[in-house]
Amino acid sequence: MRVGFIGLGIMGAPMASNLIKAGFELAVHDCVRERTASLEALGARPADSPAALAPLAEVFITMLPDTPQVEAVLFGEAGLAGALSAGSIVIDMSTISPRATMEFARRLGERQVEMLDAPVSGGEPGARQGRLSIMVGGRREIYERCLPLFQVMGSKVVYTGPNGHGQKTKLVNQVVGSLNLLAAVEGIRLARAAGLDLALTLEAVGGGAAGSWMWSNLGPKMAARDYAPGFMIRLHAKDLRLASELLAELGLDAPGTELCHELFEKAVAEGLGELGNQGLIRLWETD
Ligand code: NAD
Repeated sequence: MRVGFIGLGIMGAPMASNLIKAGFELAVHDCVRERTASLEALGARPADSPAALAPLAEVFITMLPDTPQVEAVLFGEAGLAGALSAGSIVIDMSTISPRATMEFARRLGERQVEMLDAPVSGGEPGARQGRLSIMVGGRREIYERCLPLFQVMGSKVVYTGPNGHGQKTKLVNQVVGSLNLLAAVEGIRLARAAGLDLALTLEAVGGGAAGSWMWSNLGPKMAARDYAPGFMIRLHAKDLRLASELLAELGLDAPGTELCHELFEKAVAEGLGELGNQGLIRLWETD
């Protein structure tokens, strides 16, 4: 199976690298030309545009920031859709709007191109280790055909239902993850203010009922004041905007999510958008 990979950022580059190491023939594109270099070194073929990638593969994975970038790559100038042959498969692994996803799947379907939405959780370490959780929406038969790819990139692959369900599942993930992250921020601030040893606090709390992925992965970074991005604040704010839109559409009141959304938007407004999401703590700690 030949794979075309578009979007070689923090997540896309290690995911693509795992595919090539597993033996898939890979072609790659990113609008920042230098981002293809590490994959080319592993044997991937570079393409100058999504359309130029089309003849080099049958399955195309996108790992892009947000809905407008996925739309541009699929349907914009030199986009993928117009250049794909019938029977091709597009797998969007970015986190984008579920509603737009359903529309993209419909538009691709008109060209006899299949689409899966397959957003992920597990961060940059999960991408590097091939241990992502992957939430797949689309036709089950297409999911089954693409399973060998998912199994390289993830350790938990779940078929969630029709197109859009993968993205909706990811938004549930972001609601739960964001509240866990805010809890970790407040826990670290309290421990610091109370004069506790942060390493001991991380160990003790992480071993009990308050443990979480956010606590054990991002707690040590907050303790070390390491704000390098695994997942950027501006992308986390985008996910909370998508979650808020879905909640509003469904008429659900979710005060915790609303608070997280406000805080992440505030962090972006204060110029913290390029920091990792553990940098949310900088809203209160400025040293
Ligand atoms: P990133 O900004 O590091 O990577 C995005 C890449 O897409 C960049 O290399 C960029 O140059 C490229 N790109 C942007 N627009 C393009 C275009 N029009 N054409 C071609 N290439 C284009 O972001 P990331 O952290 O890798 O996240 C990617 C997606 O995965 C986002 O939707 C994010 O929400 C989601 N996600 C990220 C994480 C994480 O921990 N970083 C975890 C789960 C999901």
